[in-house]
Amino acid sequence: MTKTRGKSKVKIVSNPAQAKHPPAHDFKPSGKHLNFNRITDEQFLIAAEEMKLEDDIRMLLRTPYRELIVQIPVRMDDGHLELFHGYRVQHNGVRGPYKGGLRFHPEVDLNEVRSLAALMTWKTALVDVPFGGAKGGVTCDPSNMSRKELQALTRGLTSKIDMALGVYRDIPAPDMNTNAQVMAWIMDEYGKKHGYTPAIVTGKPINLGGSEGREEATGRGTMIITREACKAFGIDIKQTRVAIQGFGNVGSWTARLLDEQGAKIVAVSDVHGGIHNPAGLDMKKLVAHVKTEKTVVGFAGAKSLPNDELLTIDCDILIPAALGGVVHRNNADDVQAKIIVEAANSPVTPRADEMLRKRGKHVLPDILVNAGGVTVSYFEWVQNLQQFHWDLLTVNSELERRMVKAWKRVYQTATERNLTLRIAAYAVALEKVAEATRQRF
Ligand code: GLU
Repeated sequence: MTKTRGKSKVKIVSNPAQAKHPPAHDFKPSGKHLNFNRITDEQFLIAAEEMKLEDDIRMLLRTPYRELIVQIPVRMDDGHLELFHGYRVQHNGVRGPYKGGLRFHPEVDLNEVRSLAALMTWKTALVDVPFGGAKGGVTCDPSNMSRKELQALTRGLTSKIDMALGVYRDIPAPDMNTNAQVMAWIMDEYGKKHGYTPAIVTGKPINLGGSEGREEATGRGTMIITREACKAFGIDIKQTRVAIQGFGNVGSWTARLLDEQGAKIVAVSDVHGGIHNPAGLDMKKLVAHVKTEKTVVGFAGAKSLPNDELLTIDCDILIPAALGGVVHRNNADDVQAKIIVEAANSPVTPRADEMLRKRGKHVLPDILVNAGGVTVSYFEWVQNLQQFHWDLLTVNSELERRMVKAWKRVYQTATERNLTLRIAAYAVALEKVAEATRQRF
């Protein structure tokens, strides 16, 4: 099939996006009441149905293994005692130790963490790293907290969930609003009780046992999957115009690396607003601007743009790289991009997924697209256990190999079984986890 739309120079040659897909339920568009757990649960059930997964295994894989909710009192800089709530959910560990990030965000709750933990189980299986799935977080607003308060919060969380952590039990990592510094505090706090244990956490500063290439790994993985998808769909990446929502770690690295591939980045946004230049944004200058201004807003080479308009802008590739649930039933029909790349976790609701599929759009699923982060986390863990440091070239070529292999497997499954790329990705992952479950029980 050959399709063109709008001013695009892009041609879609084959279109597995139009593969069969059962009807999806509807979800609240976005914001606080978005039920993440229903999104991932529904995706799981569609794939489980497709694979005719046994009822007992289905029940096991739908239920988390362990959920911790902890109280973290922090003495704030002004002297008052603030009570935070922290979470760690271990979803499934049949393939290896629990693995997944920690996020600090005002909207973190048990439901969200539960859902993100399940995504980690599928993600680690899909890229074939020997981990299970977990996620954690604290309900807080880090933008209103000092470094001292954040450090106290991180140390508080680490000591409260200490009993569930371990180098062969559960290994946290960065996620939304957490970074290498936060990981360093976790390693230090854990080490007070257990001795020097760098493998307890990944995404650390390189100086403390972190891996080369870990910081940009999720963005690099996103670039690799986007590039491979373009190849498979018969699209020349150099002819594509890309819009990216989110300019944090994942969004900014994805933008830089796609720019290096010759794609034109026409719009980007962050929490403060968006910017647009149909002729393409100068990435080097933009990165320098963000370094000093802490936002993309005000960049000289572009017009300003409201954040939600970015999602429906005229472009070929749309990359939501920030929050979940941003493409929903109220805006899915306005999305103009032909390829939607889920760099964030769960940015497209199941209802929107179906609307996009009906319009012949390709959605590259989160569990494949953003799996580069946990893949390099695996390399970091291996390096820590072996006390042997890899160079950047080794990290990047091993990441490239694993991401391309996962893409090929998903694309082949989608084509052979007439599935969407999301359900194909779930099918590949679920089969691995289901098989390990059958072997263990
Ligand atoms: N937080 C990242 C994710 O959602 C990375 C997890 C990890 O490296 O363990 O995939």
